[in-house]
Amino acid sequence: MTALSFEFFPPRTPEGQQTLCKTAEALKALSPQFFSVTFGAGGSTREKTAETVFDIKRHTHVATAPHISCMGSTKESILELLKTYIANDVRHLVVLRGDHPSGFVGRAGEFRYANELVAFIREQTQQHFMIHVAAYPEFHPEAKNAQRDLDNFKRKVEAGADVAITQYFYNVDAYCYFRDACLRAGITVPIIPGIMPIANLDGLKRFSSICGAEIPSWLLKRLDALAEDEAAIRQFGIEVVTDLCQKLLKQEAPGLHFYTLNKAEPAIAICKHLR
Ligand SMILES: Cc1cc2nc3c(=O)[nH]c(=O)nc-3n(C[C@H](O)[C@H](O)[C@H](O)COP(=O)(O)OP(=O)(O)OC[C@H]3O[C@@H](n4cnc5c(N)ncnc54)[C@H](O)[C@@H]3O)c2cc1C
Repeated sequence: MTALSFEFFPPRTPEGQQTLCKTAEALKALSPQFFSVTFGAGGSTREKTAETVFDIKRHTHVATAPHISCMGSTKESILELLKTYIANDVRHLVVLRGDHPSGFVGRAGEFRYANELVAFIREQTQQHFMIHVAAYPEFHPEAKNAQRDLDNFKRKVEAGADVAITQYFYNVDAYCYFRDACLRAGITVPIIPGIMPIANLDGLKRFSSICGAEIPSWLLKRLDALAEDEAAIRQFGIEVVTDLCQKLLKQEAPGLHFYTLNKAEPAIAICKHLR
C-alpha cells in the first residue's frame, strides 16, 4: 500500500476548524501515514498551526506534523515551540525556511536557511522528531542554478532531514531526473512527490507562477478551454492527477503527499482511482 499523507492549512475561524476535523476524519479512511499543517508566510500562524495540529490529532488519532519555518523565529521561540510539541507527543515536523508575507521588509529571523533550522532542531532534540524538508524537482525559484539548488538540498539532508516532500509538479520527468540526480549526489532519503489536485484554475495559475511549478502548456490549454465549467475542470483534474500518480508509483515513488487545500473530495477521488 502506498504511503499517503495530506497537508492542510490552519483555518481562520472555529467553524473552519470544525470543518477541517471532518475533512481529516474523511481522509483517515485512506489510512494516511500522517497529516501536516502549514505555517503561515512570515510565521503568521504559529499558534494556529499548533492548535490545528493538536485538534486534528485529538479527533483522528493520526500522527500530525506541524510545519515550522525560519521566518520570524529566534532560537528561543523555536525551543519553546519544540517543547510544546514534545509535550504533546508530536513526532513529525516539516522544517522550512518559509516565505515572507507579501510586502515584507526587514530581517527574517535568526535562521537564514532551512538547513540551519534542521541542524538546530537535531542538536536540541536529537532523534525525537522525524524531520521532513522541502525539495524542488523544477528547482526553487530563487536558486542560482540547478546544481546550487541540489547542493543546498544536500546540505539540508546532511543537517539531519529524514525525508523530503517535493513542491508539486505535473511533469513526471522532472521528478525522475531530480531523484536520479540526488542519488548520484549521494542523497538517499526518500523523496515523496507533492501532489496538487486541480480544482480552482485561477488559484492554481497564481500559485504556480509564485512557487515555480510549471503547468505544461498542453494542460493549461485544456484547462483554459474548460474555464467556465468548474465541474468539468474538477473532473478533468482528477483524471490528469490520477494518471500523474500512477506514473509516479510505477517509477517507485516512495509515497504521495497531497496538498489538499482543506478539501477531502479531490484527494479521495484520486486515491480511489489508484486503488
Ligand atoms: C512540502 C512543502 C511544504 C511547505 N510548507 C510551507 C509552509 O508551511 N509555510 C511556508 O511559509 N512555506 C511553505 N513552503 C514553501 C517554502 O517555504 C518556500 O518554497 C521557501 O521559499 C523555501 O523554503 P525551503 O525550506 O525549501 O528553503 P531552503 O532549503 O532554505 O532554500 C531556499 C533557497 O535558498 C537556497 N539555499 C538553501 N540553503 C542555502 C545556503 N546554505 N546558502 C545559500 N543558499 C541556500 C536554496 O537553493 C533555495 O533557493 C512549503 C514547500 C514545500 C515543498
